[in-house]
Amino acid sequence: MLTSGWLTQGPAGPRFEKAFAQRHGVAHAVGVSNATSGLHIACLALGAGPGQVVWTSPNSFVASANCALYCGAGVDFVDIDPVTRNMSVPALAAKLEQAERDGQLPVIVIPVHFAGLPCDLAPMRALADRYGFKLLEDASHAVGASYDGQPIGSRYADASVFSFHPVKIITTGEGCMVTTQDAALARRLQLLRSHGITRTPGEMTLDGPMPGPWYYEQTTLGFNHRLTDIQSALGYSQLQRLDSFQAARERLADRYDRLLAGLPLKLPARAPSASATARSSWHLYVIEVLSGDGVADRATVFQRLWDANIAVNVHYIPIHTQPYYRARGFRPGQFPAAEAYYAGAISIPLFPTLTDEQQDCVVAELKKALQA
Ligand SMILES: *Cc1c(COP(=O)(O)O)cnc(C)c1O
Repeated sequence: MLTSGWLTQGPAGPRFEKAFAQRHGVAHAVGVSNATSGLHIACLALGAGPGQVVWTSPNSFVASANCALYCGAGVDFVDIDPVTRNMSVPALAAKLEQAERDGQLPVIVIPVHFAGLPCDLAPMRALADRYGFKLLEDASHAVGASYDGQPIGSRYADASVFSFHPVKIITTGEGCMVTTQDAALARRLQLLRSHGITRTPGEMTLDGPMPGPWYYEQTTLGFNHRLTDIQSALGYSQLQRLDSFQAARERLADRYDRLLAGLPLKLPARAPSASATARSSWHLYVIEVLSGDGVADRATVFQRLWDANIAVNVHYIPIHTQPYYRARGFRPGQFPAAEAYYAGAISIPLFPTLTDEQQDCVVAELKKALQA
């Protein structure tokens, strides 16, 4: 590792990249410092820049939209499907038709596999081919998930970004993997994550012999967005446990489905659409409170669970309603399905080491909390 040169990383990085690519059935995986940086360099590598626009889901973490702005591109949103809580394919198709008429088609569309449930990727791919945009999956929640029998990150998108933040499915402290089937795109991502510097003779402007073994060239403006060897070693060991993590999450999600049936709640969808199947990674288990007759409102239910020491959360405040995005011209009411979903949403505890007794306690407290 120390003798291989200053710019070369150690063996743990490539080992983790190779194992991650194999597990996700994809040719190339590029380790990056975190998914925010991964989305940034993926947007750059896929051509986002000034004068262009990137579309994503309003029901996501702000990083899914910010990445476009880092590149100098604009951002817009496509409303969600109220059942899957993912970007709606009919809404995407309608917005594309309008954008084509207006001459303002997006350069990249970023669907987000919310809570680990895959988006309906086949029709999205068909739209990408028809309208000529790139499909970039924000797969931050979807490590190990699959769509119609194909691992997320392998088949439909031009590139896919996975997060290894501690709250996600597997962790490296901070970290990310960007996957793609495209070798040239993978190479662009490698250059962008490390200062735009190359030591590969064929990539240099140099014509003539190498001046010496020290020589390198910066050929583009890159960043220091590398994943360290220590993080990669942790990621490799976490990856070996992915199947057991996923099985535990799936079993607990099935159990929630049974225990919560019949309550005034909307439970998570199981499939991306009527015609497609999927295996969720079950990053989150999100209920929607159906407030009304005899049922408390979301804020009350949340506060009661919080007071009972149950670690609940809300994912996500629609991005376009954030003050920063309002200042850019967005306003509440623009993406009503995402806003209606948000009004009732609560993420209840789901992690591999949650015991049945703890889960029973969550359900008992929830039943009490729901009473108006
Ligand atoms: C966590 C998350 C990110 C950002 O991931 P980091 O690795 O923390 O940068 C982006 N998008 C979504 C949907 C996320 O949940």
